[in-house]
Amino acid sequence: MLLRSISEILPAPAPHWVGDGFNVFPVFADKAFTAELSPFLMFDYAAPKYFEPNTGGKPRGVGSHPHRGMETVTIAFQGEVEHRDSLGNRGVIGPGDVQWMSAARGIIHSEFHGPELCKKGGLLEMAQLWVNLPAKYKMGSPRYQEILMKDIVECPLFEAGADAPSASDAGVVRVIAGDYRNGSKGPASTYSPIDVWDVRLSATSVGKTFVFEPLASSNVIIFVRSGSVSLNGGTKTLGPQDVALFKAAAGGGCEAAGAGGGSITLSSAEGGASVLYLAGTPINEPIAARGPFVMNTFDEIMQANRDYASGKFGN
Ligand code: MN
Repeated sequence: MLLRSISEILPAPAPHWVGDGFNVFPVFADKAFTAELSPFLMFDYAAPKYFEPNTGGKPRGVGSHPHRGMETVTIAFQGEVEHRDSLGNRGVIGPGDVQWMSAARGIIHSEFHGPELCKKGGLLEMAQLWVNLPAKYKMGSPRYQEILMKDIVECPLFEAGADAPSASDAGVVRVIAGDYRNGSKGPASTYSPIDVWDVRLSATSVGKTFVFEPLASSNVIIFVRSGSVSLNGGTKTLGPQDVALFKAAAGGGCEAAGAGGGSITLSSAEGGASVLYLAGTPINEPIAARGPFVMNTFDEIMQANRDYASGKFGN
């Protein structure tokens, strides 16, 4: 089997607060908003954290703010996140649920702890991924997809060399976007080819090696949420908040092993693991990013500032 080599293991970042509700690790660190991770822009991960009940004041989180030119993908693992936006959407997502918001030409939203989490307190674990939009969709209509756990296809993992899936108690892929194997397409609709997979290896998976077969033209990012894994049969293990980057082939058509070509294998050394698998075809366009706006040129960023200030994003 041809294996795609790991381009880089990114250093674990220090966490910071987003509003007063989300203590996040900026997983992409210095590579956020660079062509190297395209079409992905930024990835904040809030590791499991306990919050006391909060019934008196306002919920913890981030108040109204705009976005343009990109998408936010919010995945709840534990606890609840509530979203309200200028299109009139309101949604509370809980464990296993996803919100996929395409800001396109403009949206204003708020992101808070959900009502049950405020009332009872509890653990919050979530992630927010920012995905870039191709230029031709940046000024299109905004869209909001609420994807509940029950809508997400859960597929047993395939072991290396196997034609049939492994026993489902060994490990599963929750396919949020993209297609893990024929017929396992995720519910999210995307504007460029993207895989977002929530991969769970159980303790009984130890000794098994699972295989992923990304397009040679895709950048692939593997992020460890919990447990430890080894990649491509290597002796180095990756633990919580480690991230491995596998760069796309230059030109996108390389079939040889090494950067951009071949498969990626994953196994758990002990006790199982949870990882996020992200893959996408780079959008080969300039990135101009400032705060919540991601466009192609600085002039377009200035236009976004003017449009927001003059109320063109709604309320
Ligand atoms: Mn936001």
